[in-house]
Order: sequence, then C-alpha cells, then structure tokens
Amino acid sequence: MLSNDVIEYVKGHDVVYCYGAGRFGKIARVFLSENGCPIDGFVVSKIENGQRECLELPIYEISEAAENIKSGAGIIICVNQTLVDIFVNHLKEIEAKDYLIVDENVIAQMDQMNSYDKVFHQKGRTRTLLYHRIQKLEKDIWGIACSPQSFELQMKILKEHFEVVPIDDIIVCTDKDRIIISFDDGYKDNYENALPILEKYNIPAVIYVSTGNIGSDKEFWWDEIERIICSNEKCPDNILFMGDEYALTDMGLKVGACYKIRENLLRMLPEERDEQLSILREITLDDGAGRMDNKSISANELKMLDKAAVITIGGHTVSHSRLSAEPEEMQRWEIEESKHVIENYIGHVITTFSFPFGGIEDYDEKTISVAREAGYEIIAAVTRKYYDPKMDEYNFGRICVQNIESARDFKRFLSLN
Ligand SMILES: [Zn+2]
Repeated sequence: MLSNDVIEYVKGHDVVYCYGAGRFGKIARVFLSENGCPIDGFVVSKIENGQRECLELPIYEISEAAENIKSGAGIIICVNQTLVDIFVNHLKEIEAKDYLIVDENVIAQMDQMNSYDKVFHQKGRTRTLLYHRIQKLEKDIWGIACSPQSFELQMKILKEHFEVVPIDDIIVCTDKDRIIISFDDGYKDNYENALPILEKYNIPAVIYVSTGNIGSDKEFWWDEIERIICSNEKCPDNILFMGDEYALTDMGLKVGACYKIRENLLRMLPEERDEQLSILREITLDDGAGRMDNKSISANELKMLDKAAVITIGGHTVSHSRLSAEPEEMQRWEIEESKHVIENYIGHVITTFSFPFGGIEDYDEKTISVAREAGYEIIAAVTRKYYDPKMDEYNFGRICVQNIESARDFKRFLSLN
C-alpha cells in the first residue's frame, strides 16, 4: 500500500472518517488535508476525557457514527498495528464492511511528506509545555536543553498561532486552544537566556524552582553525575559503584552508566544521595567543581525573575528527589521548606508547585495532600497531556519540549501532541 492509495480511497467516498485520533490518525488527517482531500471527522471506540475535537474535526464514538457508516461513509483505520484487530472487530459489530487499514509504513511515509505548515487547533484544550534549560550544550545527555535560538523560534511560532496564558489561567474554562509555558528546576539559564526572549515576545511562563542549590556553585545532582562520568578526564575506564560494575570506555557506555546511576540515586533520601555522590567523586578522581553553565539561579536572579511581569515562580522541592520514595515527614519538609525559602526571597506567597520528575511513580496521595496543606493550589505533573477540569481540578500534565530547531518540526510537534 502507498499513501496514494489512501488518497484514492478518500476521494472515492463522499464522507470518510478516520478511526483512531492518536498520533497515527493525526498524521493521516494532516496528510489528507495537505493533499486536498480532507476527511470529515474522527471515530474512536470510546470518547476520552470528554474530548470531542481533534485537529479541527469532530470526534465521534463509533456507535454515534454507525448510521453514517452503514449508509456508505468510508473509514480509514489509523492505529498501531497491535490494535488493528480490535478496531476491525468493532467495525464488524456495526456491520461496517467498507474500510481501509492504513499500515504503519504508510503513516511513516505520510509523516515524512507532511509540511505541517498549517497549525491545527484543538478547542477547549490547554496544553502546558515543559522546558528545563535554555542553553546551547555540547552534550545534553538528559535531553532537557533547548538552545536560545530554537527557543526563540518556538516562542515566535506560539505567539503567532496560540493564546499563551499564565499558569493561573489554567483553571479558567475556555473553548480556546491555549498554551502554558513552564520550566522546571530553576537553572540560571532561565534567567540569562529564557527571560529576555519571553519578555521580547511578551509570553508568560511559570518557573518551578528547586531551592537546594540556590546561592551555591553546586550543580544539580544529575548534572553532577554527568560531569563525573562523561566530562571528567581522570575517570577510570572501569568503576565499581554501589555494587555495580561499569565499563566506561566510550560515550555510549558512559551515558548508559549515567542513566543507571541516576535511577539508583533518585529514590534515595538527599543525605544518602550526597554520600553516594561523594563516593563516586572519590573513585573517579573528580575535583567536585561545579560548571558555571550548569548553575542554579541565585537568590538575586530569583528576585529579578519574580519581578518580571511575564514570570510566575513556583515550588519544586528542596533536593529534587522522588517524593514517593520519601516518608511523609520528609515530603512535608521538601515541600514546605522550599516554599518558605522562595517566599522569603521574593517576599510573597507562591501558589503553584510541580513534582520532581513528575511521572505517576514519582508522587503519591500523600504528596498531593501535603502540597495542598502547604497552600499550593495548582499542581503540575508530567503524566497527562492536557489539563482536564473534569478529571482532577488542580493536577495537570505537561509535554516536554526538546531542542526542536526548525519551524516545520515545531509545528509538527504541536499538531501531534
Ligand atoms: Zn525537575
């Protein structure tokens, strides 16, 4: 099958639905629109989170579209191979016979050909983009840095195509397609590189700050791992650390080791982690000097950020540990202490917080209740893609943005996420 076959199929029907409104369905939707034969809507097995629109087309539940399908509407099935049989069975249940299964290779082909020039909107949805660093890095093994140049291009595109709103607006219901910009961790480059661009385009953003390194030259602990293993000429070719042997003879192995060590360290209590890091420094002959580029913001920069009209400051714990691995009292300390530290520096209360790492395994019920008791009203995770007032009033997901360098790729990212 070729992408042209899909075009022919769509042209041969008065009405065509795309079964599947995920990544594959979106790619097909864009492709068919760009090729002058747009489809009429999406069909899904079950409406999720009340989402009724995707890329400016309606979404129907299969039962709702059954009548139309019976009377001659075509269906293109655009889902992951593993789901095709299930979808075909659903179609058989409503006695649909006229459908086309679009295989993954064709989807990949369409994706290649799409220009993604037009930005499609999805009304009623608020997406929060998650950035960490705005810095050109030689090595970005954690995949969290966006160069200032890429960031500026991205902000320009957002400004042109979307309403970018401050974090507090997340709880305001709307039928628009809105974007919120957020940063985690509180790197110095947020002040040096992100702020001027945000101010230039007058784009609001929230910066969630971990307070443990404010005012020190220490790097965040994951950057320290990277420095010790990847950027330390004295590091031996083989090390034994926490019972694991690591061969460090090439960059691939080094990066693999960093990920493994990070995974082991993120579930530790801060003191224990510091201890292990100092052991790691010792066995690798690392001199312990923090790199300037990787610094946390200083107290003064935090104040300046807070004074900027476009910036909201939020909390992100003291030590940036996995909260679910800490006892409740420790979680309380992480959340309350960091809140106090920030509030002392900036002289007013903060009301928004994000979980370190942000995955579903990184926080628990206690974390949420402790954060609420501390006075946090808006709490961010990284698990779901949208803010959905019906699911959880003050808990929303975010989408990580990496160093996307071209306008085409950033528009593609916005269309597919
Ligand atoms: Zn973080």
